[in-house]
Formats: sequence, C-alpha cells, structure tokens
Amino acid sequence: AKLDGQGALQGFQQHFHDELVRQHRLAERLEHAIANCELSLHYQPQVSAVSGRIENLEALLRWEPADGEAVSPAEFIPLAERSGLIERLGDWVMEEACGQQAAWRAAGVEALRIDINLSGRQVRAPETLERLEACVARHGLEPQDIGIELTENVLIEANEAVLTRLRRLYHRGVRIAIDDFGTGYSSLSYLKLFPVTALKIDRSFVRDGPQQSEDRAIMEAAVFIGHRLGLEVVAEGVETGEQLALVREMRCDLVQGYYFHRPLPVAEVQRLLFGQLEH
Ligand code: C2E
Ligand code: CA
Ligand code: CA
Ligand code: CA
Repeated sequence: AKLDGQGALQGFQQHFHDELVRQHRLAERLEHAIANCELSLHYQPQVSAVSGRIENLEALLRWEPADGEAVSPAEFIPLAERSGLIERLGDWVMEEACGQQAAWRAAGVEALRIDINLSGRQVRAPETLERLEACVARHGLEPQDIGIELTENVLIEANEAVLTRLRRLYHRGVRIAIDDFGTGYSSLSYLKLFPVTALKIDRSFVRDGPQQSEDRAIMEAAVFIGHRLGLEVVAEGVETGEQLALVREMRCDLVQGYYFHRPLPVAEVQRLLFGQLEH
C-alpha cells in the first residue's frame, strides 16, 4: 500500500511538472505571437431580441501558433495575465478593434459598437484605460463606438483609482458591460458604485433556464434589476430556440450565442454587416 501511495504521488508530481513545462513553453511562444502575426480577432454579433438586427459585436481574441494548433483564450489569457504579457496583447486587441471599427465606419456601417474584454490586470494597470481613449481618438472614432466588458470580480476588486478611471470613461461615453453577471462572489452593492451601461447574463443561467426554475428566477431578477438601473441587458450563450424564446419572454434587449452566430472572422462578419446595410 505504501508503495502504491508513493507511485500515485510520483505520478501526480510528474503530471504537475509536465504541466508546468507545457505552460512555460506556451508562454514563450505567446511572446512571439504578435511579431509572428499569429493573433486575430473574431467578432460575435449581439442581435436585438426584437428585430434580430446586429447591434454590437464582441471582439474575441484568437491565437493560432504558426507551428501548431489554435490555443483557446480560456487557456492563454490567464497565462498572459500571470506572465505580464496581457498588457501587450491588450494593446494589440485595442488597436485591431479600433482599426476595424474605423474601416467599417468608412464603408458606411453606422451605429455598431464593438466591445473588447479587459481582464483584471489590464484594468488595474494605470494606463490601460487612457491608452484605450487615445486609441479611439487616433482612429477618429467616438467614445461610444467602443465598449469594454469587465467581470463582476474585476469590479469588486477595484480600488479607488480604478473606479475614478472607469467613471471618467463612462462620462466620456464609453460603454461598460458587466460580463458573466451572476457568477461573481458579490453582493449587489457594487452596482451602486460602478458606472456601467449593460449587464450580460451568464450563459450558465441561459443554458439551464428552460429546465430549471431557479435559473429562470435568477434571470428574471437580473433583467429586472438591470432595467430598473437603466442598463441594457444581454443574454449570453443562447444556443437553442427554446432558450431564445425564454430570453425574449424575459425582455432581454440583446441576444448573443451560437443560435444566431458564432464568433466569426472579419470577412464573414463583414458579409453580414454589409447585407444588413442593404435592408
Ligand atoms: P467571455 O468574455 O465570457 O466570452 C464568451 C465566450 O463564450 C467566448 O469564448 C465565446 O466564443 C463563447 N460563446 C459565445 N456564444 C456561445 C454559445 O452560444 N455557446 C457556448 N457554449 N459558448 C459561446 P472564447 O472566445 O473561447 O473566450 C473565452 C474567454 O476568454 C472569454 O470569455 C474572455 O474571458 C477571454 N477573452 C477572449 N478574448 C479576450 C481578449 O481580447 N482579452 C481578454 N482580456 N480576455 C479575452
Ligand atoms: Ca466577454
Ligand atoms: Ca461572458
Ligand atoms: Ca466568461
């Protein structure tokens, strides 16, 4: 039995070691991703629950290493946060999203917002939000052309300095959405403190809503509170007709999910946008 225990421990240590080596290699490759043009943005449409028109796009980062398979952002974003690379990646995302927005504006696509995701470390870094404002201006855009998505936990952990910077952005007209709403370890009191414009109901509630009355109750409460606070409410992760019917019945304003569109490369989303222009 003792030997078995030791074997299991060694197996565990080996696994742990292999995982560290793998992450270390991944971090090294990620460092060169920008220079090697391995990054791209995909855009996932958010459509009006009423008209079905595309009103916003969420920019989602993609990494396809030249010498390997695509790595999920759920894996490389946390890695970039730990290694400090996130700030450079974030700058790349901002630049790319603003450049794309400016190009679409020039081509006649109006009133479309692009949201980018910001992680905790990005929001805490003193210059991220200033750089975003500068980037928007440099591309000749208005503040309301670009939005940011922050998770509840990022907001809860924010200090006074972060709050001040977010308020400044808000007053300039930058849209601020709370991502994965309902999943953070939070009381609702932060809603009072933070200048936000939208709530995104986490996809776990949307997924289970048709079967589980608890999820429906939470969604209903989220829509109610969002609307009472004057916020736009987005349902995330809508995959089925049943889920769509539910979020419509609950009066969500915008719907995002595979039911309508997956995150799409530029050429494909552009086809949708130009198609919409003709109607
Ligand atoms: P998120 O911000 O919550 O983004 C939504 C995730 O749900 C995306 O995964 C999207 O592809 C996926 N999704 C959208 N609709 C559906 C659906 O109907 N069903 C299901 N099952 N999934 C759906 P993705 O693209 O893999 O991104 C994962 C996470 O990585 C994001 O979660 C976000 O936290 C982070 N991320 C992505 N791009 C960036 C970025 O540029 N900067 C930062 N800081 N984080 C990013
Ligand atoms: Ca998001
Ligand atoms: Ca989300
Ligand atoms: Ca998420």
